Amino acid sequence: MPPIPALSYDEAQKVYDDIDRSFHLTPERLFELTKSFLHEFSIGLREYGHPMAMIPTFVTGVPNGSETGTFLALDLGGTNLRVCEVVLNGDKTFSLRQQKYKVSESLKTGEAEALFDYLADSVDAFLTTHAASAYTTKEEEDVVHLGLTFSFPVEQTALNSGKILTWTKGFSAKNAVGRDVVQLLQEAFDRKHMHVKCIALVNDTVGALLCRAYTAGGCLLGAIFGTGTNGAYVEEVAKITKLGNHPAAAKGGYMIVNTEWGAFNNSRSHLPSTPFDNTLDRLSINPNFQAFEKFVSGMYLGEITRNILTALVDAAPKPLVFGGKSTSVLNTHYGLDTSVMSEVEDAWEGPHRSYSAEQTAPDFSTFDEEKLPPNIRTKLERIRAVTVKQLGFQDSDVTLKDAAIVRWVCSLVARRAALLSGVAVATVLIQTGYASFPDQDGVFSPRASTEPILIGVDGSLIEHYPNFQRTLRESLRCLVGEEVEKRVDIGMAKDGSGVGAALSALQSLKQGHR
Ligand code: BGC
Repeated sequence: MPPIPALSYDEAQKVYDDIDRSFHLTPERLFELTKSFLHEFSIGLREYGHPMAMIPTFVTGVPNGSETGTFLALDLGGTNLRVCEVVLNGDKTFSLRQQKYKVSESLKTGEAEALFDYLADSVDAFLTTHAASAYTTKEEEDVVHLGLTFSFPVEQTALNSGKILTWTKGFSAKNAVGRDVVQLLQEAFDRKHMHVKCIALVNDTVGALLCRAYTAGGCLLGAIFGTGTNGAYVEEVAKITKLGNHPAAAKGGYMIVNTEWGAFNNSRSHLPSTPFDNTLDRLSINPNFQAFEKFVSGMYLGEITRNILTALVDAAPKPLVFGGKSTSVLNTHYGLDTSVMSEVEDAWEGPHRSYSAEQTAPDFSTFDEEKLPPNIRTKLERIRAVTVKQLGFQDSDVTLKDAAIVRWVCSLVARRAALLSGVAVATVLIQTGYASFPDQDGVFSPRASTEPILIGVDGSLIEHYPNFQRTLRESLRCLVGEEVEKRVDIGMAKDGSGVGAALSALQSLKQGHR
């Protein structure tokens, strides 16, 4: 058999360049996506039953920091299940004690009853290690009031009830969709004869919004960029026309709306899908759902990166990374965690490449280990070490060029995610009148105000991923102009889930729920 011809340098570079280009988002594309986002907002505010659910939360005010009390909160929907005790001090500060519990894959995908029993057990375990008396009200000494942060789409009907619309983020517990989540949890407490009453239900985005409002004195948007992604913002009740004759509609004013933006463009007509995204979706437990989330959130970025790297390993006629070798981490579905990407980019310690009209991959064809400047060599050595350790390679399997390719792939996937996150934030700013699109000449209309626009965020990507926020802002600047972008004050709403649940439990008590 004749030997297989090696790819010429140019052919190999073309493969890298094509991948690079397929992840590229031009400003025109970002504008187009924002327009389509706004359109889905308006449909969701008008009618029930759309993927971008625009859920009215019945939270009609935001805290101002003077709230007080001690509450128990249960938080399901991130990487871990958490039970916390939250003390609101009434001076914009709070303290929090928490315990994290793992949720196994079998609980995520088994019977809902088993999952909710586990939630109840975790609360029970927490209460036995912490005195329960702090959470009771004087009238009912032995009842512990709890706020639930449930970070999945729920069609809320009141502060303390709502039906699960669908699972996301790898959960698929049976016999839960269509049922009231507060009731499911209460039944689990009752089965165990626990004196705990769930009195409030919030999404983590609402928690982030309430938490930032409590600590900063106001907030327009609460957003999560973590395992999943979503945003909740303060909307005029008059614009939530699907409320129809609901008494809340007659009252007017403002209400927090949980957008469930992770479901934006499920048809993928506008999202920049690549074959790597399509593979991810096809093999996910919820194909055709949560399309936007699959481009943006921590649960999926590692998997997109893995799909690209394995395609380069498998490239024919010659492999384009790791000399064609792979590892069990690389071969395993969801084997590459997004935190590894974060570690790779940390090791690089440099900014993401900024936008250029002719985007191509870095020139790997002229890569010469011998000629690397010392500072670049040091960075690549660090990335090589992370790659060997985290992907499970032998030391000799990974070259410095492989390290450079790994870094490039990570930054490509993360940069696209951050730019798309900016689209979601810009949509809220335009929807609420804080920003508008530029005119035909690309000029943004001047805004009179210089007031900060407060946003509360939480999640591993926004908190830890190098350059994520910076790239999100780059996208915002492009979409709403520098003047508005500068006013946007993004603050971590760390522990927003716990604090938000506590604040809504307080609200619920004030409304007379016991
Ligand atoms: C859920 C949202 C949640 C977000 C962030 C999404 O998968 O649908 O309800 O807010 O993740 O946790």
